[in-house]
Amino acid sequence: MKNSMNSILTLQDISISFGGIKAVNQLSLDVRNQEIFAIIGPNGAGKTTAFNIISGLYRAQAGSILFSGTDITNLLPHQIAHLGMGRTFQNLELFTLMSVEDNLMAARHMHTKTNFWNELIRNKKVKDEEEQNRKKVHEILSFLNLGEVANKKVTDLGFPIQKRVELGRALALEPKLLLLDEPAAGLNFVETAELSELIKSIRGDLGITVLLIEHDMSMVMSISDRIIVLDYGKEICLGVPEEIQNDARVVEAYLGKRDSHA
Ligand code: ATP
Repeated sequence: MKNSMNSILTLQDISISFGGIKAVNQLSLDVRNQEIFAIIGPNGAGKTTAFNIISGLYRAQAGSILFSGTDITNLLPHQIAHLGMGRTFQNLELFTLMSVEDNLMAARHMHTKTNFWNELIRNKKVKDEEEQNRKKVHEILSFLNLGEVANKKVTDLGFPIQKRVELGRALALEPKLLLLDEPAAGLNFVETAELSELIKSIRGDLGITVLLIEHDMSMVMSISDRIIVLDYGKEICLGVPEEIQNDARVVEAYLGKRDSHA
């Protein structure tokens, strides 16, 4: 399989079941370079499971995934991250007792080429690399407007800032593709608007492709180039925001669920 021209991520007939539940059922999709692509759908539609398969946390039981020209179907999460895929989680996964800067440095160390013995001797190469890492981290912190809290412990910061730190940690890996799992969850209207601008600038200024899961429909509709709607692990609709908004199958999927919070 090859990525079609201009696409960075291709899923072909991906499936996974848990017990009798087909959480993702023959899902195919193609994310183009530098687009903002959203996955939406009612609760339990299989969105996070799809993310877990793409990022290597779960192994698909069928189908294949190509990322930036490499077959990643059977790779492990750290191997996929090394190929240039960053990710944030629904629940923040930060080192809360470490500073903001050190959280990003920790992520950066995945990129460090020097080995343990060099590290021990702290030779010039190690020091140079450390300096470069710190420079990159400072660039990212200032891009995210986090410069002022760089030395603060994560635990001392408010939730919206912590969410931005998590974004910073994913960006520290200098990914080509960034997966965001419900980035607006827990944010108020103003914070969500700021986040939308930030995501657009991650794509526009940093040239990073963004794949996101989101329940905040106004955000999804305003920032996404294309949207796929899942229900019961399957695609029910794919298109630009206007097409999705006007599709009867989408309305049906959402209204059909009593407990959907979308
Ligand atoms: P939400 O919007 O609520 O986060 P979602 O679209 O992300 O939902 P998933 O979390 O991917 O949905 O879940 C899809 C289905 O797979 C659900 O029926 C869920 O209960 C089931 N499922 C997901 N992960 C597991 C697991 N590790 N073990 C068993 N069942 C699972």
